[in-house]
Amino acid sequence: MAASRSDTPVVIAVAITGSVPRKKDNPAVPVTVAEQIESTHQAFEAGATLCHIHVRNDDESPSSDPDKFAAVQEGLRKHCPGMIVQFSTGGRGRDPAARGLSLKHRPDMASLSTGSVNFPTIVYENSASLVTDLASQMKQYGVRPEIEIFDLSHLHGAKRLVEAGLIDPRPHVQFVMGVQNAMPAEAHLLDILLAETRRILPEATWTAAGIGRNQAVVMDWALARGADAVRTGLEDNIRVTKDRLAASNAELVGLAAEAIARHGRRVATPAEARAALGLD
Ligand code: MG
Repeated sequence: MAASRSDTPVVIAVAITGSVPRKKDNPAVPVTVAEQIESTHQAFEAGATLCHIHVRNDDESPSSDPDKFAAVQEGLRKHCPGMIVQFSTGGRGRDPAARGLSLKHRPDMASLSTGSVNFPTIVYENSASLVTDLASQMKQYGVRPEIEIFDLSHLHGAKRLVEAGLIDPRPHVQFVMGVQNAMPAEAHLLDILLAETRRILPEATWTAAGIGRNQAVVMDWALARGADAVRTGLEDNIRVTKDRLAASNAELVGLAAEAIARHGRRVATPAEARAALGLD
C-alpha cells in the first residue's frame, strides 16, 4: 500500500440493489434483471467501472438463483464493456449453502466476508467453515474476492486465507462503516484499520463503504487516504440529502466522480480499473 496514490486513477464501484427491500423507500432501486442492467448501464456511463450485484425474487426478497446472476452478468458484458462484474455472496435472508451457487458463472469478482458481525436485526453469520468453502470455490472458478471488513478481526480472517493459499497475497479489501450494531463510521477507526492492513496485508488494495448518511463522508476519508476505489450506490444509501431521494445509481456515481475530482484525482477507465484490482 502506497502512502499516496495521487497519480493513480480511482475505481468507482456501484452497489446497485442490495439485499434489503428498498423499492418502497426509493422507486429508483432496480429489482428486476432488466431494471438492474439499465440502471448499471447508466452508472457505467457516469463513470462506474465495478458493479456489485445482489439479485431479487419477484417479491423483492433476496435470491440465490444462479440463473438470475448469470442474466445480469450477460447484460452487463453486452452493454457495459470492460466493467468489472462482482457477485455478492453476502448473507442477509439467504441460505448459507446457497450463497456460493452463482460462482460457477465465473464473475470477475465476488464479495467475501471473513467473519461474523451483528447487523441491525440479525447476526450476519460467516462461520470459519463457510468462509473457507466460499474462498475455495472462488479459487476453483478463478473469481477474485473482495474481502468485506465489518470488524478488525475480519482482516485477520483474510490473512489466514492468504496463509492457507486460498486467496492471493494482494487481496482487495473493503472497510464497511456505519452499519447499525457493527463498526461506526469514524475516521480514526479507518486509520486503525488501514494501519493493521498495512502491517498484515501490505500489498492489499482497498476501498471503504459508508452506509446510509455516511456514504459521502466515508468516501471523503477514503480519498484523503489514497484509496484505490470508492463505493457508492443505492444498496448502501438511497438519498442525496436528508430530504431528497437519489434519482438513480448514476446520480450517486456522478457525486462520487465529483468527490474524486475534488481530491485532485481522476476516475479510472475500465482497463485501468482491471489493472488496479489485479484482473486481466
Ligand atoms: Mg452487498
